Amino acid sequence: MCGIVGYIGNKQAHPILLEGLKRLEYRGYDSSGIALLNENQIEVFKKQGKVVEMENLVLSAGLQSTIGIGHTRWATHGAPNNINSHPHYSNSKRLAIIHNGIIENYATIKEGLLKRGYTFESETDTEVLVNLIEDVLVHTHVSLAEAVRIALNQVVGAYAIAVVEQGNVDQIVVAKKGSPLVIGIGEKEYFIASDATPFIEYTNQAIYLEEEEVGLISLEKGIEIRTTANKLIRPYIQELALEIESIEKGSYDHFMLKEVNEQPKSIFDTLRGRLLVDKSAICIGGLNQYEKILERRQNYYSCMWNLLACRLGCRIFN
Ligand code: GLU
Repeated sequence: MCGIVGYIGNKQAHPILLEGLKRLEYRGYDSSGIALLNENQIEVFKKQGKVVEMENLVLSAGLQSTIGIGHTRWATHGAPNNINSHPHYSNSKRLAIIHNGIIENYATIKEGLLKRGYTFESETDTEVLVNLIEDVLVHTHVSLAEAVRIALNQVVGAYAIAVVEQGNVDQIVVAKKGSPLVIGIGEKEYFIASDATPFIEYTNQAIYLEEEEVGLISLEKGIEIRTTANKLIRPYIQELALEIESIEKGSYDHFMLKEVNEQPKSIFDTLRGRLLVDKSAICIGGLNQYEKILERRQNYYSCMWNLLACRLGCRIFN
């Protein structure tokens, strides 16, 4: 899986984002990154590996910012490396995005954007999405939230996203379909995260975004939620249990019970974007560097992958 966090308020954003990402480490990831905003620019820090390694980059930059977004990546499109890590800028660097999930029709969208002159640094579906949003912004002159909504109507796939715009330090736009996203409401501050663990010591008031909803989070205007079909939604604010343990345990009495019951979802999340049903194949990005070793040896790992392939009736490739 993977995780997203975000903060807008009057505190320094980066300690909250970094601590939040560490709390989401249990979900599994291969790289991490954060984007911090000030009046003039969006600054992105990202790195393959552990959150602490990326943290060093952020701390040595010494940036002051009260708004930012952060991500732990579980690569589906493109190898786990620094360039493919999130956040991703749009071409003009006007926008930065973090994304959990997969955009299934990214290749078609990318083709259209390439024809219109867009270029891409990474191999990700996410960079395609942020440029699609920028393309809508440029051509329609609507607000960022509206541009996100319009762009998502062209997207097939799963997403929890957060988008920020250069020069606008009063807003984060979020959206969700298939991947979780919760907004924490504090005293003159807002948090976003994949689950409530990153912000529970700050607030127990939370809104769980429903499928195909887009949220504008603004210090000045508050929260406005619309469906991707443009229906205004009255947000349902929930009061959360205050202990991290009980949030993590959810409605289950024991962690073991939770783990057992969540196995189908965990397997689904792990294989998301990797199980190519139409090609009857599994594509495991990142394994290609070990391909030769796996080919040469009948060791434990190759046995395991072959067993998995047999069970799923597929072949495995990179
Ligand atoms: N599909 C995106 C990527 O490969 C997001 C993966 C994730 O959910 O972390 O970068």
